[in-house]
Amino acid sequence: MKASVTHPATRRVILVSFDGLRPDLINATATPHLHRLQRQGVTLGRNVTVYPSETRAAMPSLVTGASPGRHGMVGNQYLDRAAVPSRYVDTADDQLVETLDTLSGGRLMGVPSLGEVLAAQGKTLAVLASNSAGTTRLFNHKARTLGHPTISGHFARLATSRSLLEALNARIGPPPAPPPAGTPDLAAQSYLTAALLDIVWPQLRPDVTILSFGEPDSSSHYCGTAEVRTLEALAWADQQFGRVLDWWEAEGRRQDVHIIAVSDHGHVSVHAQADVHQVLRDAGFRCDSASGQDVDAIVVPGQVGAIYLADPSELKILRAVAAMTKAPWCGPIFTAGRNDIEGIAPGSFARQLVMADHARSSDILFSYRADSEVDPFGLIGRTWSNDAPIGLGVHGGLHHKEMAAVGILAGTAFRSGSLSEVPSGICDIAPTILHLLGIVAPSQMDGRVLNETFATLPRAAPASVVETVYEAGSSTYHQVLRRIQVGAAAYIEGGFAENAA
Ligand SMILES: [Zn+2]
Repeated sequence: MKASVTHPATRRVILVSFDGLRPDLINATATPHLHRLQRQGVTLGRNVTVYPSETRAAMPSLVTGASPGRHGMVGNQYLDRAAVPSRYVDTADDQLVETLDTLSGGRLMGVPSLGEVLAAQGKTLAVLASNSAGTTRLFNHKARTLGHPTISGHFARLATSRSLLEALNARIGPPPAPPPAGTPDLAAQSYLTAALLDIVWPQLRPDVTILSFGEPDSSSHYCGTAEVRTLEALAWADQQFGRVLDWWEAEGRRQDVHIIAVSDHGHVSVHAQADVHQVLRDAGFRCDSASGQDVDAIVVPGQVGAIYLADPSELKILRAVAAMTKAPWCGPIFTAGRNDIEGIAPGSFARQLVMADHARSSDILFSYRADSEVDPFGLIGRTWSNDAPIGLGVHGGLHHKEMAAVGILAGTAFRSGSLSEVPSGICDIAPTILHLLGIVAPSQMDGRVLNETFATLPRAAPASVVETVYEAGSSTYHQVLRRIQVGAAAYIEGGFAENAA
């Protein structure tokens, strides 16, 4: 049989993202509308994000189809040693993201992003997002120069079209202010949903639209993984998604619109407090959370374990890693590669094994130690943290519940009511969207087209799936990493560390 695939020019894609949503929180009562989408589409049963499992590393992977080692957004914050003097970058700052891209001649990311690839084909990427300002910008960081619409659910300054913002102001009002910490962020989700259904879709009909809800991530960080307010925020976002789904079932599906629902990582609960600074101080390093004259080691704040040394010599890296791997909070740990698997520090893995090797990568990249005990809300997954209080939700590390990400694809091109057990990842979404639109993905994309989800393709022979378990350690420390290869695409399912027996 000859494979015949049509890519009608009328085909459109709406990608809906739920920040920080664990796939195991989706069910008929908590999220009836995501559940409804599952019945009409394909659910990716073994879908993962990239490492580190931080939003502003993962969302760039969503739109570039590339791992952090390739796109260079190696964490929410990083040290750029290519700048003179070195520059500590926090990508939460949307204006800094745009400035750095301009200063670098458009090369903030090392690979083309979905907005650029679509623009080259005369197509448009619209972004409506209630995430942080930086995340919102990173969905299409060149939107201003490409002339693509971006609307933030909170910050008017992010709008890349004054006229669109004015139309929204006139029709549905200004974007609502972010609520106080710990209060579910509801208004922004309904604002963006109205913006999509009332203005952006009917007036602009973008080829690809990203509708990104900043919940349940924000509530989980302030209240806990499945605390009542987090579940309220999730239910609200799901209800807004239901409005999109109602429209899609009534009209969108017939108009060849495809809906893809994703999340960028999961969440686990903090159960114990680490003191990374103390361990490094005891090993002779003067630490701070930012660069400075008297700082030997910058410990990047947040759940990503990233340490930049003022003197990144092998001797210093070995000394720090030796001290860290004796600490009870130390999970999997990575350094520059001695080869493709082993890091230069004994007991560490090579950064490239987790696709996180880049000039901006920290000298020592680590996860906090996590386990699969049940948290106070009945969910599997607990971790240590250097910053977040006990009981709250976090992500950034390698626990399989942090790495697990939502992926549901629906529309005439996809199978319906089906579950895919083929491993997949966030880097596969962009190439799959491009394939839907009849565009060949750029070679820099690490992800693959999710052929197994298509109803319109004859069942091809499944790509080879190779699962490898890597182990490393010392007399006191043992770490394990699960990596899966599907064809040329690689996924990190998770990793953990424990005291050596
Ligand atoms: Zn996130």
